[in-house]
Amino acid sequence: MSTKTEAPFAVVDRRDLTPLCPHCSAELPEVYTHGRGFPLGQGRTFVYFCPHCVKVLGFAQGRVF
Ligand SMILES: [Zn+2]
Repeated sequence: MSTKTEAPFAVVDRRDLTPLCPHCSAELPEVYTHGRGFPLGQGRTFVYFCPHCVKVLGFAQGRVF
């Protein structure tokens, strides 16, 4: 492992691991989103939330259409 990279960290695709909700610690094989988005500033902002406790996990700017 002497390969020198400029990236500060590696992104590894681990689909065998299931993320946990930071709020209720439930496994998140899927997350829910308000697919149509809602106006929040510029463009559409999508909100992702836990299907168990319905707390918001994060936001994302979308340019689907
Ligand atoms: Zn949760």
